[in-house]
Amino acid sequence: MEFSSKLLETAVNEMSQLPGIGKRTALRLVLHLLKQPKEQTSFLSQALTSMREEVRFCVSCHNISDVDLCAICSNEKRDHQIICVVEDIRDVMAIENTGQFRGIYHVLGGKISPIDGVGPNQLNISSLVEKVKSGEVVEIIFALSSTIEGDTTNFYIYKQIQDYEVISSTIARGISVGDELEYADEVTLGRSILHRVPFEKSFKNN
Ligand SMILES: [Zn+2]
Repeated sequence: MEFSSKLLETAVNEMSQLPGIGKRTALRLVLHLLKQPKEQTSFLSQALTSMREEVRFCVSCHNISDVDLCAICSNEKRDHQIICVVEDIRDVMAIENTGQFRGIYHVLGGKISPIDGVGPNQLNISSLVEKVKSGEVVEIIFALSSTIEGDTTNFYIYKQIQDYEVISSTIARGISVGDELEYADEVTLGRSILHRVPFEKSFKNN
C-alpha cells in the first residue's frame, strides 16, 4: 500500500495491529476518523490510554476492574461460598447477563494450552486452590468452554481441590461441544448454571 502521507501510514499500520483488522479495514477506519470532528479522535485515544493505564485486576477474583476489589466481590448480597470458574471477563459478562447466578467468580485468565505455551503457572489457579484450602468455599462451578483445553484445565484444578471439603460441579451443557461460552444464548446458559451437574459425573461419562 502506497501512502501519500507518513502520518496516515503510521496510523493505518498501528490500527492494523488489532486482530481481525487488515490494512484495508484499517485505512477505512482511519479515513472515517479524518472525516469526523477532531474531538472524536481525542475521545477515542484518551479512552484507550486511560483504559490501558488505569485498569486493574480484582485482587480476589482477577476480573478486570477499576478498583482493587471488583463490584461483584465487594457485593455482600452475593454468595461468596459459591465460586464460578471462568476463562475471562467475557464469560463473567455472559453469565451475569443471565441473571441466574448469585455467587462470585474466579477468572483464570485463559486455559491450559501447552501448544500456546500456557501452563498452569501462567493462570490464576493457585489463588483459587488457596481459597478452597481456607475452607471458605462450599462449591466450585467449572464454566470453561468444552474444548480439550477447557477440559484439561478443569481436570487439573479438580485434582488440586478434590481432597478438600468442597463440591465440584460443572455447568450442564445445552451447548454443543467446542462452542465458546460467550456465544451461548442467555436462556441456555442460565439453565445450564441452574442445572449444573457434579463434576465427577461429567468426566466419567466421557
Ligand atoms: Zn472480584
